[in-house]
Amino acid sequence: GTLTVQLPDTSYDVHIDNGVYELLSNRYKELLDSADKIGIIADEQVASIHLQILLVALQKCGIEPVVKIVPAGEQCKTAAVYVECQSFLLNESFTRNSMLIAFGGGACGDLTGFIAATFMRGIRFIQCPTTILSHDSAVGGKTAINLPEGKNMIGSFHQPAAVLFETSLFRTLPVREIRSGLAELMKHAFISDPYWSQQLLAEKSFISPSEKWLAEELLKGIRVKATIVAEDEFEQSSRKYLNFGHTFGHAVEAVCGFGGLSHGECIMIGMAFSFVMSENHGELDAVFTNKFIQFAKKNGYPFSPVSDYEFEEFLAFMIKDKKATFGKMNFVVLEKLGSPIVKTISTEECRKVFEELVRRIQ
Ligand code: NAD
Ligand code: ZN
Repeated sequence: GTLTVQLPDTSYDVHIDNGVYELLSNRYKELLDSADKIGIIADEQVASIHLQILLVALQKCGIEPVVKIVPAGEQCKTAAVYVECQSFLLNESFTRNSMLIAFGGGACGDLTGFIAATFMRGIRFIQCPTTILSHDSAVGGKTAINLPEGKNMIGSFHQPAAVLFETSLFRTLPVREIRSGLAELMKHAFISDPYWSQQLLAEKSFISPSEKWLAEELLKGIRVKATIVAEDEFEQSSRKYLNFGHTFGHAVEAVCGFGGLSHGECIMIGMAFSFVMSENHGELDAVFTNKFIQFAKKNGYPFSPVSDYEFEEFLAFMIKDKKATFGKMNFVVLEKLGSPIVKTISTEECRKVFEELVRRIQ
């Protein structure tokens, strides 16, 4: 499927399909030809399995890109890798009229986007995402690298020229990464559509999805994201809803992250937290929250790490959250499924929610 992300200053298409790189030699031939040089920034792990597919597709339109391999996953989002890539582009004589292709998961996409945003004050780039999670990260134009002090602390908004999801690449994803990406899919459902939410919660083969199911579901997720980003590109209002589950989820990532939890696994815990909180602010009840927790457990999402830490350890990170303003904690809660609102929550309420969550996940 295909959909268009329509923004005030630009628009671009997102394609998700088997065989989608064929578009490079027809629909996107003109775009590619308009660049004096093309560079692929590729995740090492992804490149070792899949780079040929992309190279062959580019060869079909006579393009011989230069390739820069970067460390797999989050390890590529460092200042050192960023600078190394910028020097690489200069040494390869890239100009303001050159173009980049990101080939990897959300980490590689964030890095490549930020390189493209800043190389000679900005060049065009195409996202070729390879994870389920990147249905979230590759659309919307947020780009960033990390600092030792915090994740995504240096970044900018820079929209891609196109996004091409080749669904056959999902076949080699580790189950952990499938879980991680599908958590964000659930987030997109919960903040937009009660019927779709319940459908997902009833899905029997949730973490062993077919390629066709994935293509359809991810397109729905992308539609939610694209609609919100079109309304609020720079996160002044409704784009905040996309942080559902993320305030507590990011704290879990920071506190329990070294235990090897993936981003989406932390967000699943964060959404459980937000559902408990939502019970105080709308129609959702404990029956629903428990149904969600059971569903998550059945599909292998871990919860136990949360019980190993004190509330204060999570609190310290929630207060530091980029989205917090002056020590006030803002949470996205649901008045009902599909109806998010932003609420300022006291430390006391937060503590009670945490204690209740710990009881519920026993
Ligand atoms: P990732 O990019 O770190 O990749 C996870 C692992 O999977 C890596 O080891 C990678 O080598 C491997 N991998 C990727 N594709 C594969 C494939 N097809 N087959 C086998 N292995 C594969 O993880 P991710 O979950 O895609 O992205 C997480 C990143 O996305 C984080 O840095 C996060 O901050 C960012 N993010 C950004 C946004 C945004 O709006 N920009 C939104 C959400 C998340
Ligand atoms: Zn996320």
